[in-house]
Amino acid sequence: MNPFLELGIRHEVVNAITELGFEKPSPIQEKAIPVLLTGNDDFVGLAQTGTGKTAAFGLPLLEQLDFSQRHPQALVLCPTRELCLQIAKDLEKYAKYIDDVHVVAVYGGANISDQLRQIRRGVQIVVATPGRMLDIINRKAIDFSDVRYVVLDEADEMLNMGFQEDINSILSETPDDKKTWLFSATMPKEVRRIAQNYMTNPFELTVGTKNTGNVNIEHQYYLIKARDKYAAFKRIVDSNPDIFGIVFCRTKIETQDIAEALIKDGYNADSLHGDLSQQQRDKVMKRYRERNLQLLVATDVAARGIDVNNVTHVINYSLPDEVENYTHRSGRTARAGKTGVSLSLINVKELGKIRRIEKIIGKPFEKKLVPQGTEVCEKQLFAIVNKIHNVAVNDEQIDQYMPAIVESLQDLSKEDIIKRFASLEFNRFLDYYKNAPDLNVDARESGRGERDREDRGRDRGGRSASNGYTRLFINLGAVDEFSRGDMLGFICNNANIPGKSVGKIDMKGVFTFFEVQDHDVDKVFQGFKAVDFNGRQVRIEVSEGGRSDRGRRSFGGGDRDRGRSRDSGRDRDRRSGGSDRGRSYNKDFRDFSGKRRESKSRY
Ligand code: AMP
Repeated sequence: MNPFLELGIRHEVVNAITELGFEKPSPIQEKAIPVLLTGNDDFVGLAQTGTGKTAAFGLPLLEQLDFSQRHPQALVLCPTRELCLQIAKDLEKYAKYIDDVHVVAVYGGANISDQLRQIRRGVQIVVATPGRMLDIINRKAIDFSDVRYVVLDEADEMLNMGFQEDINSILSETPDDKKTWLFSATMPKEVRRIAQNYMTNPFELTVGTKNTGNVNIEHQYYLIKARDKYAAFKRIVDSNPDIFGIVFCRTKIETQDIAEALIKDGYNADSLHGDLSQQQRDKVMKRYRERNLQLLVATDVAARGIDVNNVTHVINYSLPDEVENYTHRSGRTARAGKTGVSLSLINVKELGKIRRIEKIIGKPFEKKLVPQGTEVCEKQLFAIVNKIHNVAVNDEQIDQYMPAIVESLQDLSKEDIIKRFASLEFNRFLDYYKNAPDLNVDARESGRGERDREDRGRDRGGRSASNGYTRLFINLGAVDEFSRGDMLGFICNNANIPGKSVGKIDMKGVFTFFEVQDHDVDKVFQGFKAVDFNGRQVRIEVSEGGRSDRGRRSFGGGDRDRGRSRDSGRDRDRRSGGSDRGRSYNKDFRDFSGKRRESKSRY
């Protein structure tokens, strides 16, 4: 007998979930479904994302509600629009063979009138994000007086996002005798307080150990110098040819810069951050879901609620500020019983943070070595061989060309032909990785000098400028194939200032700090007002503490703001196609030095 039938789920639903590939209940489903089917208890379930929570509450809901009635009987609150749509879609799929089930997804950033229309038509299950739900309640557009079940999904995330008061207000609209089912990945005291305030003797269930990450996730770290981070990251990606990953950065700017650098280097990547419009966000997510993107570069907030299966790697390009966020990040992989890797690129100073995370997830990290160039090449070679072996051949189409192909290759032996086909792709890797240095740092050997350099690499602004100079940031660096001399020329040429006005140049992977004499700073801002490099807007900012006279925080009548408005201008440009640019540098950017040099594509 089907194990879901044994648990008490009706045939229609079992048929629908069998079509979805559910053969047996996941651990949380096995334990939660019998409790929730009684409909008698409040419930607290501690479980990570990806464990099958949606069906754990969704299947019992479908058994409990009366679908001959068309008024709201269940309310599911969740933190993000993504998750809201996902839950609503999942519930509809489970209910595919039950008549008259109406589910509405209610979330911000979308047309409210469509949602109101659906509510007016009659729904039994409302899946909502708190802000929009409250808006609809305040419009008196929904009647929750017959709600029997409230589900709080990813409760810790909702509280993290500041929805506490909204949740209180929404819950006060529902009857006292409703049952509340709360799911959370972690149990901070705020969540515990909700359980105490709104529930009576809840049935508590923990899947896995409290606060413990998914056992199917391997946690790894790579110890590297800050300035080698991007190069190390690329090696790791290259040595995993089938990677399908989410790359977490700490800030919007870092997210953009890394995604832009990856795109420029020929990877299928894009960024997801708070400044994107909902439409842009949906587009990126669609491409990622459909696997047209291999790497999604995201901030923590933007990636909340992302529910994509088969993510192979979560890459912590920068560790999260709050160590607790690590669990949320890594939970994006190893979903639905699959395995996955969560890897972190760190410098020696961040080892302490890794140890703190180990305590939280209850699992040790494995120290990994950044692969050497030759190892990457070997991995790629065998990936190519595999690809050749497994490629689908369209006999009908290619047969007509076979005689000509055979003829032109007839002077080659079988072995030669194999070598040549494999070399087609392989040569690019060999070229790129020849003479590639070892990027690993040994924590014990990393002395004071090393650490000093690392500090500088990590510090985006804290360092003060030399006397009479201002320290500026530019979003171009070593990955753009600039040497220090190139950078000096690029700055002087655009800002129209002499070389002696530029002080120290501190070149990093995707950005550079440089000093400019105070009286020439305005010229730099003016000169770079509308310059782009390989289609990427060149951005200049004053690094924090970058003025030599550190007492003055702002400079030149609010230039930091100017930097910011330039930023939003860039976003506007992007949306409108970005036509009115000033100078545009591309592959042959060396027009300032007279030299021509091809900008690097991927290899
Ligand atoms: P969730 O934690 O609800 O987001 O579920 C994570 C993923 O696991 C979703 O893609 C579900 O479709 C899938 N899933 C949930 N329960 C099962 C099950 N019993 N068997 C197979 N896949 C499942």
